[in-house]
Amino acid sequence: MAKKLFIETLGCAMNVRDSEHMIAELNREEPYHLTKDAKEADLILINTCSVREKPVNKLFSEIGQFLKHKKEGAKIGICGCTASHLGEEIFKRAPEVNFVLGARNVSKIREAVAKEKFLDVNINYDESAYAFSEFRQNPYKAYINISIGCDKKCAFCIVPHTRGEEISVPHELILAEAERAAKSGAKEIFLLGQNVNNYGRRLSGGKRDEFNFSRLLTEISKIDEVKRVRFTSPHPLHMDDEFFEVFASNPKICKSMHMPLQSGSTAILKAMRRGYTKEWFLDRAKKLRAMCPQTSISTDIIVAFPGESDRDFADTMEVMEEVRFEQIYSFKYSARPLTSAANFTDKIDPEIAAQRLFALQTRHAAILDEMTPEYLGAVKEVYFEELRDGGVVAGRTSQNNTVCAKGGEELLGEIKSVKITQPQRLILYGQVI
Ligand code: SF4
Repeated sequence: MAKKLFIETLGCAMNVRDSEHMIAELNREEPYHLTKDAKEADLILINTCSVREKPVNKLFSEIGQFLKHKKEGAKIGICGCTASHLGEEIFKRAPEVNFVLGARNVSKIREAVAKEKFLDVNINYDESAYAFSEFRQNPYKAYINISIGCDKKCAFCIVPHTRGEEISVPHELILAEAERAAKSGAKEIFLLGQNVNNYGRRLSGGKRDEFNFSRLLTEISKIDEVKRVRFTSPHPLHMDDEFFEVFASNPKICKSMHMPLQSGSTAILKAMRRGYTKEWFLDRAKKLRAMCPQTSISTDIIVAFPGESDRDFADTMEVMEEVRFEQIYSFKYSARPLTSAANFTDKIDPEIAAQRLFALQTRHAAILDEMTPEYLGAVKEVYFEELRDGGVVAGRTSQNNTVCAKGGEELLGEIKSVKITQPQRLILYGQVI
């Protein structure tokens, strides 16, 4: 009898891929069927995120709910970044939890399930060349990890403390995985890493990979069945002209670039240890727009980082006005354990933090409303991936816009031309032509 597995994945795309890896590993030994009902599960996994305080606080109340409703003999395991930084403490706060498995120890999931109690949160464990067996939740898009960990030490970020140092996956493994996925129907390859455009700097054992990121993109796009290549997250520091040249000239590379700004103030960028200035970021954004006018640019912005003055915040607003990002992920600063900024004293009043976030999001919504009418009548190539209610299919443009059109299953996995008839801020409605 196949066992039932309930898995909840929080946080980023790398966590989504790690969850797929855990499902694949578990099925190596015995069949596990996914269930959306935790009450009938034999195994409950929570793959956690630690980027902000809120999800961590939510975790223990959630564990409580699962423990209350789980079936007799079912096991519960906590994985991911919160597991990495809390480790043993999870057992102290929730003794009924069976195992705690860090974000860097995914390949040990079978060992964890086999033991009564198990803890492994070693962030120096290296599974960069581990050949995970195959499982994908989405048959049309293949997430592929090209590196693990991060060598940057951004003052606000807990990731290096939960995912360890940066190691690139050998390009041979990545190309083989991309080929397998594309041949099984995933026309879109989505490359993942904390700093993808720093790829190849260090493999397991310290050697450099023969490929850098530009070469990796080029080689993946040579696979016939691959129609689109996407990636996240690049770092502005590694956005050189060679990278922009390959990005702009290769038709298979989707024209959406994530450029995490974090702050528009050079003084705050220095305090954040981001390694670049306001001028550098603007120069790179202008260069990208000039080399590839059809590209969309998205970004991450943190407001109210310790020490942020009104002038600093005004700098962030200025960069937003100049670059006119097509998408912004914006948050109030959230102090994270183990990070250097957690000890910074000049914290910003929560009221001011809320005002700044509101001002930024309100102005950005207005910028989007200025841009949206431009889509009317445009014809976009859309890769359909999802069925929605009411005879509607949804997909994405190369620029990462969400597009909805009338249609059924026959459109899933297809790239079709769509004429935009009703552009809205977050969704473009149109007709397949
Ligand atoms: S680059 Fe900075 S923000 Fe990104 S994962 Fe690394 S430390 Fe965190």
